[in-house]
Amino acid sequence: MPNVGILYCKKIKDYSCIACAKCYKGMSEKNGEFARHDDIQLVAMTDCGGCPGLSVPRVKLVSEITKNLDRPVETLHLGTCMKLAMETAQCPIDFDDLKVTLEKKFGIDVVLGTHSY
Ligand code: SF4
Ligand code: SF4
Repeated sequence: MPNVGILYCKKIKDYSCIACAKCYKGMSEKNGEFARHDDIQLVAMTDCGGCPGLSVPRVKLVSEITKNLDRPVETLHLGTCMKLAMETAQCPIDFDDLKVTLEKKFGIDVVLGTHSY
């Protein structure tokens, strides 16, 4: 069962996507990008670090705390909210660059997107 972490867009969560209900449903149904997992253990969920793109220090903290709790994040999903922000709202994050950086620095798999609703 992979230990999954999720980052959400700090500007979208609880404004145009409420209470992360869509991702919880997506996880239970293995919808969208969650389909790659046989089973999911959600171990952390937090914001992206905020604009203008402070995700690396955010993920460093998430990686450290989950390791300290013996539930290290193995796969980190950037929520569909972040994907939409990158595609339609001038989010400054370059996913390809961020993925390489996070995977190299923290030894985790990084996936763009979560549910497809
Ligand atoms: S896409 Fe997922 S992580 Fe992002 S705000 Fe919506 S439910 Fe939360
Ligand atoms: S627009 Fe991008 S950097 Fe800004 S809060 Fe949303 S996901 Fe984070």
